Amino acid sequence: MSRRRPVPRRPRLVALLTTGALVIGLAPAFAASSAGAEPPGSPPGGSVSSSPPGVSLVKVVVPDRAAVDRLTSLGFDVAEYTRPVDGGVEIHVVADAADTTAITAMGYRVGDAVTSPSDVARNRAERSATIAADASALAAADSLTVLRAEWFTSTDDQRFLSVEVKTDAPVATNILTVQWDSGPGTAMGSGGSATMSRFVDAGQYMYHRFNAPVPVTSAPSKVTITSTVGGSVTTDVSEWLGTPRKAPSPHYVSDFVDHYMDPTEIYGRFASLAKEFPSLTQLVDLPNKTNGYRRAAQATFGTAAASTLYVTSKAWGHEGGNDLSVALVNPGTPSSALSVAVAGSAITVTLATSSSGAVTSTAAQVVAALNASPASSAVLSASTYRGNAGAGIVAAAASTRLSDNLNAPASVSREPFQVQALRIGKARDGSRTGVFLYCQEHAREWVTPLVCVETAERLLRNYQKDPTTRKLVDKLDIFIVPSINPDGAHYSFYDFASQRKNMTNHCGPNDSDPARRTSWGVDINRNFSVGSVFDGFTGASATNCLSGTFAGPAELSEPEARNEVWLVKQFPNIKFAMNTHSYGGYFMWPPGAYKAAGRELLPPVELGTEEFFWAASDHILSAVKEWRGTAIWPGQTGPVTDVLYSAAGNSADELWYNHGIIGWDFEVGADIWNPTAKRFEAVGFQPPFAEGHEEAMEFAGGQIGILEVALAHETDSKPPSSTLSVEKQQPGSTSFTFATSEPATVYYTLDGSRPTLASPKLAPAGLREGAGSVTVTDRTEVRWFSVDIAGNTESRYRPDGNGQNYRRQVVTVQ
Ligand SMILES: [Zn+2]
Repeated sequence: MSRRRPVPRRPRLVALLTTGALVIGLAPAFAASSAGAEPPGSPPGGSVSSSPPGVSLVKVVVPDRAAVDRLTSLGFDVAEYTRPVDGGVEIHVVADAADTTAITAMGYRVGDAVTSPSDVARNRAERSATIAADASALAAADSLTVLRAEWFTSTDDQRFLSVEVKTDAPVATNILTVQWDSGPGTAMGSGGSATMSRFVDAGQYMYHRFNAPVPVTSAPSKVTITSTVGGSVTTDVSEWLGTPRKAPSPHYVSDFVDHYMDPTEIYGRFASLAKEFPSLTQLVDLPNKTNGYRRAAQATFGTAAASTLYVTSKAWGHEGGNDLSVALVNPGTPSSALSVAVAGSAITVTLATSSSGAVTSTAAQVVAALNASPASSAVLSASTYRGNAGAGIVAAAASTRLSDNLNAPASVSREPFQVQALRIGKARDGSRTGVFLYCQEHAREWVTPLVCVETAERLLRNYQKDPTTRKLVDKLDIFIVPSINPDGAHYSFYDFASQRKNMTNHCGPNDSDPARRTSWGVDINRNFSVGSVFDGFTGASATNCLSGTFAGPAELSEPEARNEVWLVKQFPNIKFAMNTHSYGGYFMWPPGAYKAAGRELLPPVELGTEEFFWAASDHILSAVKEWRGTAIWPGQTGPVTDVLYSAAGNSADELWYNHGIIGWDFEVGADIWNPTAKRFEAVGFQPPFAEGHEEAMEFAGGQIGILEVALAHETDSKPPSSTLSVEKQQPGSTSFTFATSEPATVYYTLDGSRPTLASPKLAPAGLREGAGSVTVTDRTEVRWFSVDIAGNTESRYRPDGNGQNYRRQVVTVQ
């Protein structure tokens, strides 16, 4: 909010000026315009305008609070906003051209406009357009499309209802309410009712949903959704994750982790497994070693920015940097010169003094002296603080040891880390469908490597006694990388628990002082080359090296990301992948990124693939649920961009769009239902181990579920079948769609030509909707075939051959 503009302002200023109180030192322009010699903002030529001058909200940098008070007392309209900036305080002033001139003349720096007159015009136009659009949307009853309506149980057998509905009048004043019954034959509304939330992402209406599933006492069979605009729809409620899985053999063993493990221990465990199961496994060295859990040693001298400097060793801390020390010594004699002396690993800076014996060396001078001395610059570099000019006089400081600030025990290597994949399979010759399971791209997600370890243990230790496990290991080629980002993970375990990125510092000297050390690094899951921030996609930073989602200096700049790409190129039999993260309880697939302007997505997957993903979700999430009943919500299942956000340059998109690999993402750690408080509660990145253990167990089940889906794909030789059905017939046009016996994509022609893989595909009706329809306006012979995700074509039709065994049916038009 802005302070009320004083009235009348200008006469008061004139009065002040004419008394001479403030004229001293003011530029003539200020005096002239404010004294009224020329109307403010008037065009050259002197014609007088009857309109008031256009005002902007402009940034002004003043040296201190006193200057703010001075501007306020002079009658300037100063907003209630101050931010410390280099050289003073940034404030915002409502100002016209004359005010701007006056402020500049007072010696203050006037910057860009926060809001200009054209912004005001734009905002007014936007408001009018919204009001007009709302009015037209509300003119008639809206049409409601139910995307999903499901009930499910989660832990403690609590039942929940989840509903997603789309309205064609998605204005804020259109309120959608869901009512439900209490089972077959009961009255609508007898189960309860709840208001839906309007889900808007990147400025675009998505659909209406509940923020969290609604607890219900009995399983509803039907829901009715009504809108305040007059729309109404009733639909059946299905059970989410209702498919029981095949029970494992009574000898099935699980639960192989009993504490959080750092990457050194995790890879040690994998080495032991490889040794114990040589006929079923091998370790694959990924070619790009990480930069290592290591840092240069540093020390900071000073407290105020202008008089502070910091030094950084040339050698890594563990390779000599930590042995260096720097002292800033007051010689205690007058007229002494600034000098640098190096004796062994001790660097002594003797500060300059004046004739009276006072220290005169500034931070900039000490930095220059350290960097100019061949002996000191051979072992360290010095910088002023965060780009400060360093004009402040430095304080003397006793000898201070540099430190790499790394606290892991010596058993954690400081060398570049050899990341490995444990390859599990009876036939590891590339002839089997490959599955790539990888964990801990993000360092602080401590549960995720446990998921990968548990999966590996279960596969190997159940191989002898459990026939299902044996089939997975015999028929698949499984690659498990338990910690993609070991350096960051070590840092998270021993130094900074919230570390997300790797440890590599891409910042320049302005952001490389040691107090910044927990903000360096690259977000591995933003460093990939598809839909990246460098291509204009949203959800990463290309410019701020301190950002939690810093994408790195370039696509695939980081060894951790290049390792993933290498693996899938090296083993082209890999067809499925799971990127395991925490937390929140999600199961997701591509696309994972969009450009915010217009919410321009990476290409959505085709209908048959999307249907396959939903079918696979049921199997995989039922496997997750098996451990302790946790149901991943339907509202957190789907394309990343539909259920979470845009994540520019993530690895699942890299795998799908560049390599045709089905790239899924887990977020382990679903919210936990608190039955007393009747609400869901978040678990965080590092819950107490008792909870972390449960998450590892349930999502290892999910990874096994993925292997089962991959196996079904490997052994799927059954072609799909399909039917054409007319949906809507009206004079002059007929709409039809296709149904398939299993998830499959339909290719069709309407011109009597032979359908091929280049023919049009049946598209989804919309976001999270099923099959769309095709409309014809003349009698048409439709020719088509369907193909499932394993590549089986209906009736074994060869789209690239000459056979005529495609499907055909005539659609008539009244
Ligand atoms: Zn993550």
